[in-house]
Amino acid sequence: MEGVRTSDGAGVRLTRIIGSGRMMELDPFLLFDEFKSDNPDDYIGGFPDHPHRGFETVTYLIAGVVDHADSAGNSGTLQPGGAQWMTAGRGLVHSELPKQKEGMLWGFQLWVNLPADSKMVPPRYQDIPPEAIPHARLPGGAVARVLAGQAFGVTGPVQGIVTIPLYVDISLPPDTSLSVPVEEGKSAFVYMIQGEGKADGTTLTAGTLGQLSDGDIVKLAAGNSGCRVFVVAARPLNQPVARWGPFVMNTDEEIQQAIEDYRAGRIRD
Ligand code: MN
Repeated sequence: MEGVRTSDGAGVRLTRIIGSGRMMELDPFLLFDEFKSDNPDDYIGGFPDHPHRGFETVTYLIAGVVDHADSAGNSGTLQPGGAQWMTAGRGLVHSELPKQKEGMLWGFQLWVNLPADSKMVPPRYQDIPPEAIPHARLPGGAVARVLAGQAFGVTGPVQGIVTIPLYVDISLPPDTSLSVPVEEGKSAFVYMIQGEGKADGTTLTAGTLGQLSDGDIVKLAAGNSGCRVFVVAARPLNQPVARWGPFVMNTDEEIQQAIEDYRAGRIRD
């Protein structure tokens, strides 16, 4: 499935793969965006101050540098190959702004829902510099970087996430294949970052997502130019979803409360 080209923030051009169009949601995943451009006009505005409540945002950067800062005084800079897992919980107001004025910006943002009893937890950051994401080198030449969960004997640095996520970035040399374990009972997808290949027999070109049926393994096969893919999985919540922009709660009343809290300045810590 291909995403929808759109823009968000202050005119950032991106492709929305989950969160609109053909896939509004893949419980617990609420949104999945790819932004990739070497034209500063497409990204320079970034995402100025905006709130979040009720879920987690996961940013994974391949190229470019992004500064972030929030209303509680937290700030940092995402580097190429680095990631940030932010549990927004009860909420914060933050900005995400490309630091560079030229060159390639290429990254991804995934939104992961929180269950009702975790939606109002205090905000928490897990900032992961590139060198803190461990990788496994596999027979056949594949390399798997593990951000969250466990794969090939490697444990990702992101810890304590309620939906027990798996987030792996896998590079496969041409005409090789690899079986990736995915825990049963999870919602799972494969996203083709680069190149072309197959996931469980279905061909995926760059920029397409393949939803995986429940099972304990996904079989990846690279085409003749190799490929790079994400394998992402997490436990579904099976709870009602009420969403309005940057707020994702269980009921409309909770959304109204979030809007009121934001307007009254109560989402700023
Ligand atoms: Mn944000």
